[in-house]
Amino acid sequence: MWASEGWGGNFEDAINWKVGDGRVISFWEDSWLNCGALKKVFSRLFSFSTVKDAKVAQLGSWNNGVWVWSLEWRRSFFEWEKPLESRLLQFLLGTRLVLGETDNWLWEVGEFQNYSVTSAYVLLRRDREEVLPNVYSRLWRCKALPSATLTAWRVLENRIATSVNLESRGIVVDNPLCCLCGMEEESNCHLFFVCRFAWLVWCLCFEWLGVTFVIHSDPVLNFIQFGMCNASGQINEFWGVIWVGVVSEIWKHRNNVIFNREKVDVLEVFALV
Ligand SMILES: [Zn+2]
Repeated sequence: MWASEGWGGNFEDAINWKVGDGRVISFWEDSWLNCGALKKVFSRLFSFSTVKDAKVAQLGSWNNGVWVWSLEWRRSFFEWEKPLESRLLQFLLGTRLVLGETDNWLWEVGEFQNYSVTSAYVLLRRDREEVLPNVYSRLWRCKALPSATLTAWRVLENRIATSVNLESRGIVVDNPLCCLCGMEEESNCHLFFVCRFAWLVWCLCFEWLGVTFVIHSDPVLNFIQFGMCNASGQINEFWGVIWVGVVSEIWKHRNNVIFNREKVDVLEVFALV
């Protein structure tokens, strides 16, 4: 249930791996390094891995009692990709495999130390009640164009076809850099909130509205914070419409730049919002 509805994050958080000889843990799929599944954290590297379902033990060997990692890639890296590999190796440095011990997982949800249906249910309820309070009801109340609202929903759910999301599904993208700035990989957070282009569009909107805001890079937190404390429901619905407008126009512009070879133009996007 949680996988199909995008509620898998906290479920994975409840499982803590105790690394043994690395024969059970899936290197890319399992969340075994306290940073989430490596295929999500290092989606680009994952798309270049030669064995996507490799167990930890398959990606290194013992040398005089010391575990040495040997990761294999389908091609050598571009200059800008090399720091990604170094970062992954840094993560791996802190791990210690133990010969003769089987990998084990521990289940921890509050006071529950052993897996049970009750503890899983507690976790699911906690996910639903704490993570996204009223976010979707606010979104669906917005009187924006249905297609724009749908784009905004995809952004909140991280289901929009950015190059990082495509790569996490194993699709190799020719140029994964953001087409609006050319500086960083096109992730959901980057494209809509961190990118210099997006940042300028948001700033123009704030100037027009006569307010100042911190631009949060997490879509859900950004949407929650985008509104006026103590304002009436109607005013906050208006803010919701602006948010949906900015996000959907950035997405449309990005598609026009890629597929129709249009010029990158901040003012045009602002005017359309
Ligand atoms: Zn960018």
